[in-house]
Amino acid sequence: MVFTVEYSIRSAQTAVYSLLGIHLKAPSVYKGNHDLRVLLRVFLTLHGKREWEALLEHSASS
Ligand SMILES: Cc1cc2nc3c(=O)[nH]c(=O)nc-3n(C[C@H](O)[C@H](O)[C@H](O)COP(=O)(O)OP(=O)(O)OC[C@H]3O[C@@H](n4cnc5c(N)ncnc54)[C@H](O)[C@@H]3O)c2cc1C
Repeated sequence: MVFTVEYSIRSAQTAVYSLLGIHLKAPSVYKGNHDLRVLLRVFLTLHGKREWEALLEHSASS
């Protein structure tokens, strides 16, 4: 999770663009918490990745 790093970079980008009069916007904020694939990976990491991966592989192959 790089939440504070991402926000500090966006803040610095916004400041530089503003101070130099550059008409660009900082990239939009990454919303991993809205991405089911990311949430699944988080779940697997927190709750025994190997066992769940084996279970998912088994259900995908059957
Ligand atoms: C141990 C630790 C772990 C962290 N882990 C995470 C993490 O896993 N994920 C996450 O998202 N965030 C993490 N953070 C937070 C993240 O690092 C900070 O939020 C982010 O780096 C802040 O960025 P910044 O540009 O505001 O400041 P900084 O990255 O601190 O940059 C400030 C810069 O200004 C320079 N500076 C200071 N004073 C002067 C001066 N007088 N003249 C010239 N230069 C100067 C400094 O040398 C430094 O390079 C962590 C922080 C710490 C301390």
